Amino acid sequence: MTNGLRGGIDLGGAKVQAVVVDQEHRPLGTARGATPREGGPPAIAEAMTQALGEAARDAGVELSALQGVGACSPGDVDEATGVVTNAANLNGWAGVSFPLAEELGRRLGTTVRVGNDVNMATLGEFRLGAAKPYDSVLGVFWGTGVGGGLILDGKPWTGRGGAGEIGHTVVERHGRRCPCGNHGCMEAYAGRGAMERAAREAHEHGRKTRLFKLMEERGRDRLTSGLWERALDHGDKVAEELMDDAVDALGTAIGSAVNLLDVPAVVLGGGMGIRFAPRVRDDLQRHMLEHLFNKDDPPALLVAELGDLGGAIGAALLVLEGQGSDAAAPAPAT
Ligand SMILES: [Zn+2]
Repeated sequence: MTNGLRGGIDLGGAKVQAVVVDQEHRPLGTARGATPREGGPPAIAEAMTQALGEAARDAGVELSALQGVGACSPGDVDEATGVVTNAANLNGWAGVSFPLAEELGRRLGTTVRVGNDVNMATLGEFRLGAAKPYDSVLGVFWGTGVGGGLILDGKPWTGRGGAGEIGHTVVERHGRRCPCGNHGCMEAYAGRGAMERAAREAHEHGRKTRLFKLMEERGRDRLTSGLWERALDHGDKVAEELMDDAVDALGTAIGSAVNLLDVPAVVLGGGMGIRFAPRVRDDLQRHMLEHLFNKDDPPALLVAELGDLGGAIGAALLVLEGQGSDAAAPAPAT
């Protein structure tokens, strides 16, 4: 119990990432599996269990040697009970409540705490990654959708449980329909899913684009961030326009959020964010500045440092936190 080894599991729409970290939060072993597309929450819990088992083997330790396990999940997560409700992108989880912490605990034979995926990734960057020097940060996780996490004065701010939804702040009144059902949300322009729908529409209206040809060639069933990158490398006009729109929307929403919160730092992460940050960072900064009220002192625009493992490493921090959200305050810096 004193070796300080902890497990972290990041449940995503496409993959499960598991990690075993040491006291210094260094990954000793990792494993990745596909998120089951059938079998519902029990099958997903089993896949998470297997991924952590593999990560432990990779680290050369027994599961029983772990001090505890933290997991993060999309959907509405009750951190006190570990029940996850309405993880709509996951098989069989739309409108359903599932006691994820309890199920994982039973399978793994250890204590498991569960947190919201974006909040854990933000906490990871705040405690261990790019936002370490700051006392407040806005995390923006750009992937299939766009999630946000907030830490204010050292404490995660979750509102009444639903704070941080920067993807659903409005960048265009009466604008494009968002997957959430509202209109004009930032995610309706910047989310990878929305970008794919817009590309498909342009293609169906006769615009020339290599995006879908590339998708076929690569045997993919969706426009992954890698395919977008390839199309941009080829100078694909449709891809360029949609990417410009996405970055404009991101910058607009971030600028507005900064006007409201005046955080000193913004961390950009997520699959799209990490891949495209080198390419779009200057444009993003420019669009953000356009909308800043206080242009003389813009926040630092940072890129997530923990990368693909960020969610899992952030989740492993849950083992060190006490019960309830009060206890999620960071330990003093060392
Ligand atoms: Zn929305």
